[in-house]
Amino acid sequence: MDKRNLFLGLVKVDEVKQFKYLGMDFSWNLSWKTMRERVVKKANSRILMIPKAISDGIAPDLSIKLWNSLVRPILEFSTEVCERSLWDEAERVQLEMGKRILKVSRSTPSDVVRGELGWWSLKARRDFALLRWWGKIVRMDHSRLTYCVYRFRKANMGVKHSSWCGDVKALLQDLNLTEVWDTEEIGDLNGWSSRLKVLIGNREELEWKNRLLTTSKLRTFRLLKSEFKLEDYLMEVRDPRWRKALTCIRGGSHNLNIEAGRWLGLPVELRTCCVCVTGQIEDERHLMLDCLPYEKLRRRMFFEIRMRSGGRLDLSSARVDDRDNLMDVLIGHCVRDKLDRVSVRNAAAKFVFLALQLRPSILDDG
Ligand SMILES: [Zn+2]
Repeated sequence: MDKRNLFLGLVKVDEVKQFKYLGMDFSWNLSWKTMRERVVKKANSRILMIPKAISDGIAPDLSIKLWNSLVRPILEFSTEVCERSLWDEAERVQLEMGKRILKVSRSTPSDVVRGELGWWSLKARRDFALLRWWGKIVRMDHSRLTYCVYRFRKANMGVKHSSWCGDVKALLQDLNLTEVWDTEEIGDLNGWSSRLKVLIGNREELEWKNRLLTTSKLRTFRLLKSEFKLEDYLMEVRDPRWRKALTCIRGGSHNLNIEAGRWLGLPVELRTCCVCVTGQIEDERHLMLDCLPYEKLRRRMFFEIRMRSGGRLDLSSARVDDRDNLMDVLIGHCVRDKLDRVSVRNAAAKFVFLALQLRPSILDDG
């Protein structure tokens, strides 16, 4: 008898290259390629519904809820048991969605998109899911089949071959939890989940900050943003055009000469402003605080901030004193009081939008 013929009773079992079971695609070579392709295709088809909602005026926080409930679960289905490495296609789907929510261009750096939304990478979320699932297993009744399989696999872990247990061990070591792999003492499950959230969240933030330091395009962004969290202005700036302009100026995704010159390979000192022609570098701060042709708009911005705050916030007098601080107040994170912050953000975002709209006509006239 051919050794590949298998029978269930007298019925020969068909041999197939792949099959679907419990929502997962199993292949003869134990590859998840088929499942990955199917899942990404399904997620992309779901994503198409969200831009329509966004263009109809849905706010960013609701768009995020749609992503969290309609699309992301598709990409994360069973990720804690089958996904071992970076999954670039899924990360790209998340990034694409983030750009659509922020209404920014495709060239916007991923660290701006994820930073403004406070989104972990899907890999980090998979790490969290994997360790939470491991926590559930080690707390299971010892008679459960899942627990018995885990115990066998851990006892027979090879050092040369990758395995699910090996992934758990490496991840725990990466998070300075080496002793937990041996003791399996994780406390209660809620406490374990909270501990993982802090540790993985800190790791995400640290890696993100390190990348900001090495990206010249993000020179302004790293000054204005220090926390890896969803930005309040995304919900507080009411006009989507103003909101988009603010995101672009914070993240360096615009065509001011500091960026346009970078595309052309010009040294920074030659990326001067063609709007005022004063020889100053045309960067985000020049646009916000200095460039003369926008002075009327700028005065209007300061006036609106003063009026909305009942006269308490007179930022025009601060222009020559602490300019970094003024930039931080206008488009960064210096205003703690919510009502003041909403006033400042809306006025600043409106200024950026109008200035960027005015810029081409000034250049054409010149
Ligand atoms: Zn200028």
